[in-house]
Amino acid sequence: MRLVLLGPPGAGKGTQSVVLANKYGLPHISTGDILREAVREGLPLGLEAKAYMDRGELVPDKVVTGIVAERLKKPDTRPGFILDGFPRTLKQAEELDKALKAMSSGIDIVLYFATSPEVAIERLTGRRVCKSCGFNYHVKNMPPKKEGVCDRCGGELFQRPDDTEATVRNRLKVYEDQTKPLIDYYMKQGILKRVSGDMGVDELFKVLSKIFSDAKLS
Ligand code: AMP
Repeated sequence: MRLVLLGPPGAGKGTQSVVLANKYGLPHISTGDILREAVREGLPLGLEAKAYMDRGELVPDKVVTGIVAERLKKPDTRPGFILDGFPRTLKQAEELDKALKAMSSGIDIVLYFATSPEVAIERLTGRRVCKSCGFNYHVKNMPPKKEGVCDRCGGELFQRPDDTEATVRNRLKVYEDQTKPLIDYYMKQGILKRVSGDMGVDELFKVLSKIFSDAKLS
């Protein structure tokens, strides 16, 4: 099952990707996660990407398409994959189609997570992430037992630099301008399924499971 998760930041793509990856045993490929790791490790890729990420802008197409093309060559993607946060521009979508075609492959379903800007802003500005294990919390909706400390591993919680309100607003604008046209692109290919990103994680998982079984993918 080859999936793309599309939608604005804060729509719940990352959370649902983790659930789907566990359930179906597929690799979760998040370009945001790959870039953040490169920043943490001080790799040249991270140094190049950091300024864009901190401003809430997109990292150049060439950089991200290269990352994904390499990742898709790894054997663990043979049974399928979950692409989260990629593609984000028409150019990226076209490059992805080309890369998959060259492997005699293609995307099965694009899940479009629709959510309102208000919900996205509330979710992202309240998000806190564990520095050690990467688990996500929310100051109101899912607070840790002890403020600032991860329930799972005792790690320190922090706010991503791009989760401040001004940067979140910019990320949403970038989404509107550069990523939203992909809805039409995939609709024309007949592979887009719209779901509500406002649902709870379990409820949404049930909806997605039905989509996969209707499409005879599971
Ligand atoms: P995310 O965790 O998916 O919200 O991504 C965090 C940041 O990484 C984005 O705001 C971009 O700066 C960068 N990024 C992630 N994926 C892409 C992509 N497909 N194209 C360009 N930039 C990306």
